[in-house]
Amino acid sequence: MGYVDEVLDLVSKRDASQPEFIQAVTEVLNSLRPVVEKNEELYRKNAILERITEPDRQIMFRVPWVDDNGQVQVNRGFRVQFNNAIGPYKGGLRLHPSVNLGIIKFLGFEQIFKNSLTTLPIGGGKGGSDFNPKGKSDREIMAFCQSFMTELAKYIGADIDVPAGDIGTGAREIGFMFGQYKRIKNLYEGVLTGKGLTYGGSLARTQATGYGLLYLTEELIKCHSDNIAGKTVAVSGSGNVAIYAIEKAQQLGAKVVTCSDSTGWIYDESGIDVELLKEVKEVKRARLTEYAAAKPSAQYFEKKNGEHGVWQYKVDVALPCATQNELDLEDAKALVANGVKYVCEGANMPTTIDATEYFQANGVCFVGGKAANAGGVATSALEMSQNSERLSWTFEEVDSKLKKIMVGIYHNIDEAAKEYGMEGNYVAGANIAGFKKVVEAMLAQGV
Ligand code: GLU
Repeated sequence: MGYVDEVLDLVSKRDASQPEFIQAVTEVLNSLRPVVEKNEELYRKNAILERITEPDRQIMFRVPWVDDNGQVQVNRGFRVQFNNAIGPYKGGLRLHPSVNLGIIKFLGFEQIFKNSLTTLPIGGGKGGSDFNPKGKSDREIMAFCQSFMTELAKYIGADIDVPAGDIGTGAREIGFMFGQYKRIKNLYEGVLTGKGLTYGGSLARTQATGYGLLYLTEELIKCHSDNIAGKTVAVSGSGNVAIYAIEKAQQLGAKVVTCSDSTGWIYDESGIDVELLKEVKEVKRARLTEYAAAKPSAQYFEKKNGEHGVWQYKVDVALPCATQNELDLEDAKALVANGVKYVCEGANMPTTIDATEYFQANGVCFVGGKAANAGGVATSALEMSQNSERLSWTFEEVDSKLKKIMVGIYHNIDEAAKEYGMEGNYVAGANIAGFKKVVEAMLAQGV
């Protein structure tokens, strides 16, 4: 058995109850085969694959908080500090009822390579809780965030581990958590990113993941002698990533016809009205039915199992921006049958492995989330830089740095794939480019 297979076997036995983590490790290690074969002796001797698939530290804790009826509720909190070979642990906090250790580990593992691709000095980590923010009052959100941070504060710091937002954690939650960290530690430092602009946040951080996704997509299309202007685009999701992906796609002259939330989706033939979408989702925190009620050209469909949802339409570009495994093999077949040419992931691992392979086998240009959604964490690292020098940069300054980083990532992953004889396989290119930098640092630092 080869080294990659041995470690895949080890992980799938040891972490058998964590399917998302096994999926992420399988995808990465399979695509690293040519690199591992070239360096097998060195990697084996240093147990590189065993070390990179086992977090440095996994912290789990009880999060008790009081709801509006005076009842004490208990959630489970997580922080997985996966790898800090190239910088302090960095990665978001997901608040969603589906959260468990396996999901946080898959996200933390992905974050190692994504953060490496940004070219900035940040290691990989992730955290969160099975707390469901939906329908909670502002006071309940604050109570949860304060309790969560009371424990988390012991393990993080501006040069140790810097959490940020993810699904369920936005500016409001980061604000409550930052306040609590400061009270506990009496320390005003850049310990979280995605902060408000009045207390150390960075301009363009809110837009960064969605804008970055489009900067990379634009470059990908340009390098295939094509143009994003005039393209029809399907987007899933209607959170922070989806909203700013839609906004930038439209600024670049494309037409986005779909978006979705946990209960249904919108098809809007005349193009999504992003200002209305922001009003419904960011201000009112309401459902997409409100969008459809306000826009006559929009149709709303209730989500049913086995339907293709936003992936059933004739589009040139598909941008999954909702959550893991939201686009399966049947969806990929529907998109290919309708002539999709480019698929770039705004979410983390939204496409299943068989769907990814189907796209690649059918000539679709497919860029995975590690590369395509790296703009969010890259801009978080720019926020850390601004906090360290106690300055803040203009929107244009941050946005132009973000664009440069995303265009650079595209060329980096394209070249890495070519170097190993896998031209056009951007998934392998991203894993290889991200991995090589981290391994070099791990080898240099010993055990
Ligand atoms: N949650 C985002 C991600 O998946 C951003 C993380 C960060 O800014 O630290 O990359």
